[in-house]
Amino acid sequence: MQIIESINEMQAHSVSLRHQGKLISFVPTMGFLHEGHLSLFEVAKEESDVTVASIFVNPAQFGPNEDFDQYPRSVEKDLELCRQRGVDIVFLPKKEELYPTGYSTYVCEESLSQPLCGVSRPSFFKGVCTVVAKLFNIVRPDVAVFGQKDAQQAAVIRKMVQDLHFPVEIRVAPIVREADGLAMSSRNSYLNEFQRRDAVRIYQALCKGKELYDNGNRNVDRILAEIIHHISECRRLRVIYVSAVDKDTMKPITRTMVEGQTLIACAVWCDEVRLIDNLIL
Ligand code: AMP
Repeated sequence: MQIIESINEMQAHSVSLRHQGKLISFVPTMGFLHEGHLSLFEVAKEESDVTVASIFVNPAQFGPNEDFDQYPRSVEKDLELCRQRGVDIVFLPKKEELYPTGYSTYVCEESLSQPLCGVSRPSFFKGVCTVVAKLFNIVRPDVAVFGQKDAQQAAVIRKMVQDLHFPVEIRVAPIVREADGLAMSSRNSYLNEFQRRDAVRIYQALCKGKELYDNGNRNVDRILAEIIHHISECRRLRVIYVSAVDKDTMKPITRTMVEGQTLIACAVWCDEVRLIDNLIL
């Protein structure tokens, strides 16, 4: 497994791989890898000759009062996991090289980025789109793999790729969950044992909503109310949003729910830890 830190080296290497006719797949991450990330590597490997993963905690996607400094980091362990899971190249850019002093160019998707997480994290998707666009220009992948865990992010990236004509195919891999249902996330490491026990209620609440749907209820408000009620029963949890949107456009579902097209997404504070989860009806 190769580890590349320099932007020029990564770019030159990708160009040379492409000249050799190799298909490159790419999985961008912020590290502190768990099975969710590793599942993306599996999808990536099936799709290509060479799999590149990046590990970079992107300052541009954190708000001023968010957890950039505390965000968990474990590069050595991550590299070992990448090695074990057959990643060919890990790109580890330096903050100073990606965002040198005087850096001033950003990519903004202005529609799908607005609702859901866009309300409470107004510059989050600008940061995500910017770093992903930069990474695409450096890694030059044919295929890039994202997780359904961050459903809005995946939709925004698809839109950016379409709007800006990036020659990249986007794949979205299913959410990997802990045995009790909690969606895996690097931020779960912030949870103490009591918070961890309560956090599972978020997924259970989404399942309560799905149960109503599966029993024939097609009233979106009723389904959302059920989910909010179930989360709110736990005193440690605070709902930031629970919404039903079209899974591709992120537009709110008001009337007809088309099977397989409705994304029920939520963000919840578990004390001071912000968690997100979703499912598709
Ligand atoms: P992050 O390191 O949190 O920026 O995540 C990197 C990629 O892994 C993103 O595309 C996430 O959607 C994806 N990911 C994170 N957690 C999970 C999970 N539990 N299941 C599937 N994909 C995930």
